[in-house]
Amino acid sequence: ARAQYAARRPRSAALHAGALEVLAGGNTRTVIAYEPFPAAMVRGEDCRLWDLDDHAYLDLCGEYTAGLFGHSEPRIHDALHAVLRRGINFASVGPGEEKLARLICGRFPSIERVRFTNSGTEANLMALTAARAFTGRAKIMAFRGGYHGGVLTFPITGASLATLPLPFVMADYNDNDSAAAVARANAADLAVILVEPMQGSGGCIPARPDFLATLRALADETGAVLIFDEVMTSRHSAGGVQARLGITPDMTTLGKYIAGGMSFGAFGGRADIMALFGGKLPHAGTFNNNVLSMAAGGVAMGEIFTAEVAEALYQRGEALRARLNAVGAAAGVPLSFTGIGSMLTAQFRIPAPDRPYVPTPGEEQLRELFFFDMLEAGIYLARRGMVALSLPVADADLDRFVAAVADFAENRAELLR
Ligand code: PMP
Repeated sequence: ARAQYAARRPRSAALHAGALEVLAGGNTRTVIAYEPFPAAMVRGEDCRLWDLDDHAYLDLCGEYTAGLFGHSEPRIHDALHAVLRRGINFASVGPGEEKLARLICGRFPSIERVRFTNSGTEANLMALTAARAFTGRAKIMAFRGGYHGGVLTFPITGASLATLPLPFVMADYNDNDSAAAVARANAADLAVILVEPMQGSGGCIPARPDFLATLRALADETGAVLIFDEVMTSRHSAGGVQARLGITPDMTTLGKYIAGGMSFGAFGGRADIMALFGGKLPHAGTFNNNVLSMAAGGVAMGEIFTAEVAEALYQRGEALRARLNAVGAAAGVPLSFTGIGSMLTAQFRIPAPDRPYVPTPGEEQLRELFFFDMLEAGIYLARRGMVALSLPVADADLDRFVAAVADFAENRAELLR
């Protein structure tokens, strides 16, 4: 599969060879690098992509959830063009910033006040900073398998990849006893409990509602600040997973699609915590309120991704996951899909896992094969087998994907078993 992939993409191969001469590692995003070289996508229209070698794809990667609106949503393009006509970035406050802040505070139950950043990573770093300053404590409880940014990566086993000198204490995801034990053992110095309501990078593993409720109770018990990282999951309803489950954290971090595909991050929460930014805590950033992100975000959240659209997307994703799981079951192979709503990940085991896990070498091979087989079928998804639906995806596109997965289950049945 790899050889065939490479043979059909000489221009992507040449681009990669050239990039290696000047870009450390050949690219600037770890997640999009894969062997033998990444296919270079050079054009997009709604949910279609074309690569440098002129192959067309259905885009089910959805820019790792940031591409919710597809590549050519006209209302977002219009907003961006209008902003450009007035000029780029003025080192000043502006109405676009207030509008987007108001939209976000109106939607997410935990967010009374919000601030913007350039990325989800920065949003998490700032939320951690705020929570530590607010509590006067140091320690940060995070979960194995969690991902909160390139410098905040927590593998399931082995040493923390968090490349920061912060006192992290690690617990097991979806394990109430582990969370309680770690929180209580560190209670006096625990500033933060940081959790994804669904581990995204960790394989689209949803948190059990009782696990999140346990974390809420543990934060109340210990005085720690509960932070939901909804950078990916905020799309699952108008107010994110917190609104869907009725569990309200003290702070929330956001990112990805919210600025209509422009660079974005945000952190917000209780007014008393966020009041630190009235003078005590600095938070600067040249591009935090850049006019492109603010304008596109205002249109994206104000006009396009309404509560009804969010709910419809969630339901479509739920239906798709059920269909895909039926494919694996019908073929009698260990192929399942985990996730919530419009985000799902292929798993090469049954029953579908409910905790993060280290894939076996065989599962790693199947992941790669699945990715290349889908590319061959003209479907682009995340290398790790994650799908993030975007709004332009049509029912016929989903039918095509389900059929491609059925072909995979049949053609690769022997390897799967
Ligand atoms: N948190 C979560 C849950 C994420 O999935 C990501 C990105 N994949 C981040 C934080 C980091 O966001 P960014 O890539 O914008 O820095």
